[in-house]
Amino acid sequence: MATIKLADYAKIIRSQNVDEIQLLAEKVSGLSLKMVNSTLVGGGVAEILNRSVPLLNELGVKTKWEVIKGDSDFFSVTKGFHNALHGNRIEVNEKIFEIYKNTNAENLKNMDFSEDVVVIHDPQPAALIEAKKNSKAKWVWRCHIDLSHPQNEVWQFLKQYVSQFDASIFSAPWFAKELPMPQFFITPSIDPLTEKNRDLSKSEIDKVMRKYDIPRDKPIVTQISRFDYLKDPIGVIQAYKLVKKHIDCRLILAGGSATDDPEGAKVLAEVKTAAGNDPNIHILSLPPFSDFEINALQRASTIVIQKSLREGFGLTVTEAMWKGKPVIASAVGGITLQIIHNFTGVLVHSIEGAAYQIRYLLNNPQIAERLGKYAKEQVREKFLITRIIRNYLLLLIAVFHLDDNVVQF
Ligand code: UDP
Repeated sequence: MATIKLADYAKIIRSQNVDEIQLLAEKVSGLSLKMVNSTLVGGGVAEILNRSVPLLNELGVKTKWEVIKGDSDFFSVTKGFHNALHGNRIEVNEKIFEIYKNTNAENLKNMDFSEDVVVIHDPQPAALIEAKKNSKAKWVWRCHIDLSHPQNEVWQFLKQYVSQFDASIFSAPWFAKELPMPQFFITPSIDPLTEKNRDLSKSEIDKVMRKYDIPRDKPIVTQISRFDYLKDPIGVIQAYKLVKKHIDCRLILAGGSATDDPEGAKVLAEVKTAAGNDPNIHILSLPPFSDFEINALQRASTIVIQKSLREGFGLTVTEAMWKGKPVIASAVGGITLQIIHNFTGVLVHSIEGAAYQIRYLLNNPQIAERLGKYAKEQVREKFLITRIIRNYLLLLIAVFHLDDNVVQF
């Protein structure tokens, strides 16, 4: 695919938004920026970095993306942290903290931080802040997690690192914690021009449905997500079973795993057991880089569901909204920033609620269509990658004026 340039977005967003980005870029052009996270593929963070790094480079911000390395013990520990920060209790002991510290220390040996600004994504690499004392960079912690109800022992441990950053970024105002630094609010976003989100022809969609052997003889309800307990795939199957008593439909549960998520295989096995041998449930284990397939599956769906129990933001929700789909999603985390209930989608609080809303929308296709139409406009307005680029450019200005306390995003 040809390289996507900022100018290509002018046909999707307002041209003054493109001009504004160019103006801001002139102010920070030449600065260098390093992004660090813990996985190259899988999950929303990698998804966003994949697109924002080339665009920032195009705009003159010399941006590098590095991924920390870790073994399975490390990623089990950080997955535990992830769950604990989302509010699920884990067993805490010195050993897990040691594994975390040692892996970060090992990574530090092979990294340098000579850039002007370093952005560390999420808890996994947060202890790299130890390098701050030998670097002239401004250090920013970008948290994609809902930190509003963390397990205290885990948060206190991480806080010793997080508190050392010059600034932090959260995806929703209510995720923020009391921290001794300025905090910024940036919601994630999607790229409308990538393979994941570009318009597809009918024949491209049909091709994918044939590939997975999914007939289009009845309505299709789909959840695309890593196989993760917090995405509640079993709850989705239960909701589908309630719907099935009244309306014939198909369910697609599709997802792969991320290299920093060791729980995937176990969850997938449980999902298969819960699905039994129902020929109308299609469980697809997707390899990395299945963007085209995900795009087609979302577009082939009658309804997209995201029944997460906890969610930082939920890029899959934005992706489906951009495709004009009616989305039924749990009223958790950043999903509530995206969906205006009964206007740009539907928010639910339980399996029964999800089942009720699926039935309602399957029975009322005009309402479903209107939700999808407004959903797309909401994404155009607020959740496209160009808005994140603007936010990052403003951040690059703001981090050099942190004492002035005047920069608003
Ligand atoms: N995704 C993917 N392959 C999969 C499952 C998900 O590429 O098998 C993508 C999905 O389309 C979305 C991102 O990964 O762009 C998931 O982001 P989200 O914020 O929904 O959840 P996270 O996985 O970060 O918790």
